[in-house]
Amino acid sequence: MLQSQGKEAMSTTFHVEGRAGSARAGRLLTPHGEIETPVFMPVGTVATVKGMPQDILEELGVQILLGNTYHLYLRPGVETVRQMGGLHGFMAWPRAILTDSGGFQVFSLNELRKVSEEGVTFRSHLDGSPHFFSPESAMQAQIGLGADIIMAFDECTEYPADRARTKASMELTLRWAERSKKYFEEHKNEVPWSGTQCSVLGSQQTKIPRFARNDKLPGDSTQSLFGIVQGGMDLELRKESAERTIEIGFPGYAIGGLSVGEPRERTREVIEATLEHLPADKPRYVMGVGTPEEIAEYASLGVDMMDCVLPTRAARHGLLFTSEGKVSIKQARYAQDPGPLDPNCGCRVCRRYSRAYLRHLYASNEVLAQVLNTLHNLSFYLDTMRRVRHSISLGEESGFSSSVRSRPEP
Ligand SMILES: [Zn+2]
Repeated sequence: MLQSQGKEAMSTTFHVEGRAGSARAGRLLTPHGEIETPVFMPVGTVATVKGMPQDILEELGVQILLGNTYHLYLRPGVETVRQMGGLHGFMAWPRAILTDSGGFQVFSLNELRKVSEEGVTFRSHLDGSPHFFSPESAMQAQIGLGADIIMAFDECTEYPADRARTKASMELTLRWAERSKKYFEEHKNEVPWSGTQCSVLGSQQTKIPRFARNDKLPGDSTQSLFGIVQGGMDLELRKESAERTIEIGFPGYAIGGLSVGEPRERTREVIEATLEHLPADKPRYVMGVGTPEEIAEYASLGVDMMDCVLPTRAARHGLLFTSEGKVSIKQARYAQDPGPLDPNCGCRVCRRYSRAYLRHLYASNEVLAQVLNTLHNLSFYLDTMRRVRHSISLGEESGFSSSVRSRPEP
């Protein structure tokens, strides 16, 4: 069922290889490499997964990273990244990248934002300077950043919101999705690593690291634009949003507007209800989730892609996910614990260091604490997804629910 999406330039293809119940194991081909799905995408907000060198991310088996358009637009600026060959060249990352549209950050980091039909006016959280994002400018920024997968500009509906407000917000997102697609179709060949665009780099070309372009890249390959389903917590509006977003037509679909403060049970319900309206032959991406148990569960529902700051952010606060439940490494009871953080984890932290040492590094506020904690948490998330994918490939419908233990911290 290999399927090419996009009429002209070949950008991504998605192939479902195995199924178990609603879950699918698939393969997503992008201009910068292949992604085995379901996949967890670590978040590299400002072109870095905090504390992790890119070679370690490769060693961990990260196949796709997420970058945040809002942050990169403010600093270092899209033009700087574009001149370096896009994010791949700038951050020396040869594998796939996805950028969000900037919409979610504008909504979550800006209390003074003003939304109009045209777009959103907001102030930089760095220096208070005024800025404006529209569907067109958000596409322009994401084309300049040059991720393999980019997202339509949407309004993330706040929680709670009444039905009238949720519907109006969904309608705005649909209009913005059309504008996003129109701009993208007219400008997609301006991506910094596109075959037709090398001249734009001019004399810079020779200085761009080899990561800027994948040798296997067909000459006409470019980015893919995914649509985003909104509709708040209203299942009927979710259905309508899904159907009308599909009418506009995208090579992949995201479920946005979750993890905005709703109860977790509601998150699951919305995901499950929305998935059934999304095409089975296109990748489905749930934005901004979740715990290890949740990502395994959502994969079992048929979600192919997920991203979340949780493993990296929690790591910096000394909260570690293990096969035996959550560990808060700051606790005094680990002070003389010679055992590994997680006896069932094969990551280089668990192979080498004791809980006592990790606890000491954290208590001493050492930089290495953040590095090692992040490394383990990412490894745990990626291993979780690999186990889930393996179970799906074997057709084990219930195999993956037991692959993650959700025991609370003892
Ligand atoms: Zn580990």
